Amino acid sequence: MIIPVEQITEPPKRLRFAESIEELNHAMDLVRDYRFPEFVDVDLVYYRSGRELFFEGRFGAWVEGHCGRCLKSYSFALKKNFAFVLTPDPLSRKKGELDQSEMGLSFYASKEINLFPFIREQVLLALPTRPLCEEGCHGLCPSCGADLNLEPCRCAVSPGDPRMSLFRTLKLNQ
Ligand SMILES: [Zn+2]
Ligand SMILES: [Zn+2]
Repeated sequence: MIIPVEQITEPPKRLRFAESIEELNHAMDLVRDYRFPEFVDVDLVYYRSGRELFFEGRFGAWVEGHCGRCLKSYSFALKKNFAFVLTPDPLSRKKGELDQSEMGLSFYASKEINLFPFIREQVLLALPTRPLCEEGCHGLCPSCGADLNLEPCRCAVSPGDPRMSLFRTLKLNQ
């Protein structure tokens, strides 16, 4: 969604739209763990105070995760409220480049605001750091591959087996 700066007025305006985030599927190695829907639903209120532009709202989407323990796919609702402020860029940096400060303050230097990078950032921030189908997922037995959520492991794990300790190390590092 692109909003011309001149259309951002002091009286707040409300806007609902679907922002395309499908490109997240092609970006970064997050693809491994999450699959994004084509669109997220965004409910946005925007207004200005002087030259500062305020955006507040929330988004919602169903995201498909790939459990890091049992490797199953699962869907979950990703929702988040967000708020950010854009202030005119005092140095007129490169157009479109975001400069986040700790205050959640960003600069704008063009005549229109492209909300996409902000929405995308909010989506990424809202993601769990590690995909789990559920908190207590027991995962797979590294030896026999049994899904320990569904069945007990039937193999006798020898603690001295060096291959087992490799698996344990891998699991710990995940
Ligand atoms: Zn799982
Ligand atoms: Zn086993």
